[in-house]
Amino acid sequence: MYRTHTCGELRLTHVEKVVTLSGWVQRTRQLGGMTFVDLRDRYGITQLVFDMSLNADLCAAANKLGREFVIQATGIVRERSSKNTQLATGEVEIDVTGLQVLNAAKVPPFTIEPDTDGGDDLRMKYRYLDLRRTPVQQNIIFRHQMAQATRSYLNNLNFLEIETPFLIKSTPEGARDFVVPSRLNAGQFYALPQSPQTFKQLLMVSGFDRYYQIVRCFRDEDLRADRQPEFTQIDCEMAFVTREDVLQTFEGLLRYLLKTVKGYDLGEVARMSYDDAMRLYGSDKPDIRFGMAFTELNQLVKGHGFAIFDDAELIAGICAQGCAEYTRKQLDELTDWVKRPQIGAKGLVYVKYNPDGTLKSSVDKFYSPEQLQTWANAMNAKPGDLLLILSGSTDKTRKQLGELRLEMGKRLGLRNPAEFKALWVLDFPLLEWDEEDQRWVACHHPFTRPRTQNFENITDWGSLRAEAYDLCLNGNEIAGGSIRIHERALQEKVFDLLGMTKDEAQQKFGFLMGAFEYGAPPHGGIAFGFDRLCAIMGGYESIRDFIAFPKNNSGRDTMIDAPSPIDAKQYRELSIQSVIQG
Ligand code: ASP
Repeated sequence: MYRTHTCGELRLTHVEKVVTLSGWVQRTRQLGGMTFVDLRDRYGITQLVFDMSLNADLCAAANKLGREFVIQATGIVRERSSKNTQLATGEVEIDVTGLQVLNAAKVPPFTIEPDTDGGDDLRMKYRYLDLRRTPVQQNIIFRHQMAQATRSYLNNLNFLEIETPFLIKSTPEGARDFVVPSRLNAGQFYALPQSPQTFKQLLMVSGFDRYYQIVRCFRDEDLRADRQPEFTQIDCEMAFVTREDVLQTFEGLLRYLLKTVKGYDLGEVARMSYDDAMRLYGSDKPDIRFGMAFTELNQLVKGHGFAIFDDAELIAGICAQGCAEYTRKQLDELTDWVKRPQIGAKGLVYVKYNPDGTLKSSVDKFYSPEQLQTWANAMNAKPGDLLLILSGSTDKTRKQLGELRLEMGKRLGLRNPAEFKALWVLDFPLLEWDEEDQRWVACHHPFTRPRTQNFENITDWGSLRAEAYDLCLNGNEIAGGSIRIHERALQEKVFDLLGMTKDEAQQKFGFLMGAFEYGAPPHGGIAFGFDRLCAIMGGYESIRDFIAFPKNNSGRDTMIDAPSPIDAKQYRELSIQSVIQG
């Protein structure tokens, strides 16, 4: 038997018992004639003690142990004279009577302790060692608990977990596909799913009226910060449901996860239209842990000779409570902050509403104190507050002010990581303008149900709305979905709207439209970004911390060194060489 107990298990109640533990040597210390070894496994750390005066050979063997040796130790549990309150096992230690080295270890490239000296690259190359560190293990365990709680919630509601294929035909969700050459069908390719979207809709046609899957998805996108080419979704679909049914079911899932995994009671989940979210917060995923909504000031500020405001499409501001004391230096720094290329504002107008009730602004040349007072009133400001105002084209100004709002929220400590606030954003646009391709594309995906079925007389395509919704948590989009199209005619119309020819639509999605002709029920669904949900709920910035074997920022796995070239024989078998040469 390798072990009678784990390294996290022993307590005062075990004193005088003979036990055997197996694990990794985290560190050894020699003090006088004693050697102490911290033995670690996934469950915790237990202190082993070797006494030179009692057993010199054993102690000598212990002194030879290196970091990360795998050992087995047998001994008697003793109460410690100096207890370690930081450790669950800190009241006891093992008086070792037998020691066996199960496997020696090279000196690890970085220290395997909660605080490590290993940089990112090194830890990724030796991810199997990084994964031995307690905080990293905790995250992976947290992810497991999240997955199990998700299953338990959905199973209780009659959802069925059904697998869908990974080798499929391209399904556009806005990103590029990863493709896999088919050896048996020379010159042809599978695509890896960007999501199981069409399959889950087909499952509704088949009558499995509640489906879910915790499933890997693949998107060949330019890697932005904290994106992974493969990531995991909690993918769900329901038949015979209205939007309200879907919203209730899945805010219920979030509530259940927060309760069971974190012991947190999520209050009411707020709702807001996409238009309001953009108008009030400049974001389609506003962080509503704090207020600081925008006030539009066009009416009050135009026509006073200040050209920047007079020429602007939108002038809007936020009220930073209690910030009137900001110094010149702080205001200059904030102005530089909004002018950074990442934000891109041309400048920042401020009004200090001093505690004594006077007003001082950066545009005093153009506006009287009485006029500034009307701005302060419009923004519900109180003496002591600071008004921060941006102007320019509507979309850009909203985005920039949204960033400034988040920054001020952060600086004012209003974005408390221990607090969770969820928000449904509803009524998304059906289409969005793709600058790169200069055409309208589906904002969510082409299977989303439009709110109107009459597109013939629409001139402003951007004004079309969809039965699409996003669930946001603390300013992050954690889930998105929609009520779907379930009729062939409407699906054809939407493909047409997206500029797809009839042939193209038939060739790409004939299977789906065909299925719609055989009794497709009304249906809708949603998918949660599982990695991100774990990171947010676990209190981390990066999804990589919750993926056992993540890829780096260039999409590489540096541990196994992938992607990598394949040999000539593989090219030949896959008929790829001939394609390139041809
Ligand atoms: N397939 C969608 C996505 O990956 C989610 C959904 O509409 O259910 O974003």
